[in-house]
Amino acid sequence: MADIIIENVARIKEEVIGACAQAGRSSGEVKIVPATKTVSPERINLLLDCGIDTIGENRVQELMEKYDALDKRFHIHFIGKLQTNKVKYIIDKVEMIQSVDSLKLCAEISKRAKAIGKCMEVLIEVNIGHEESKSGVMPEELLKFVEEAAKYDGIKIVGLMVIPPAISSENRSEGSDSQKVYNCGAYFKKVKELSLDILNKNIDNVIMRELSMGMSSDYCEAVSCGATIIRPGRAIFGERIYK
Ligand SMILES: *Cc1c(COP(=O)(O)O)cnc(C)c1O
Repeated sequence: MADIIIENVARIKEEVIGACAQAGRSSGEVKIVPATKTVSPERINLLLDCGIDTIGENRVQELMEKYDALDKRFHIHFIGKLQTNKVKYIIDKVEMIQSVDSLKLCAEISKRAKAIGKCMEVLIEVNIGHEESKSGVMPEELLKFVEEAAKYDGIKIVGLMVIPPAISSENRSEGSDSQKVYNCGAYFKKVKELSLDILNKNIDNVIMRELSMGMSSDYCEAVSCGATIIRPGRAIFGERIYK
């Protein structure tokens, strides 16, 4: 079990280094933040031996259940759909909320963070594919949203997060690992452009340090399009087993 996780992380790191080299980026710019939903704390803790110190959890209830058994050296990001009434449970446990998509949520995070003297880093989730089934701010509304969200104290907007529409396998780039041609996903490129648009507006309380994009099937493409955080899950832990 441990061996597989260590091997998988090592492979992903190599691939990230390769994708960065191709894109003319430094691999130090990319952080691997494994998505650990359904994974036990015992297995998550093995990540520390691979040099991974930040993880992404999706569900409040699951995070609460695992929290005590998680090694305290981990930094935890919240990456799932977050209900306003659950913010209070995680405010002291996570270092970043990557999935902010409503001003109501901003207001609640702001209130709870201020109450404990914290400034919460947040990413704004973008619904880049205009998918009804997905959360996130529509690209057309993003700039306006960021301007409004930036007015809350107790939160700091540090970038964008995206889960692009699933792309069928025939549209993906082919090739052996050593000579993969990374065909930047159009969606990732759009998100990068949106982040540059926001950056150019010089909005107070907003920086565009992070672009969280790329999961198990597309992290190399995401890296070549400018991702600073990738969130592989199955590529590290194998298929998820839901209880
Ligand atoms: C589950 C999940 C991932 C990881 O997905 P994989 O396909 O297992 O890599 C990444 N980001 C979010 C927000 C997720 O919910």
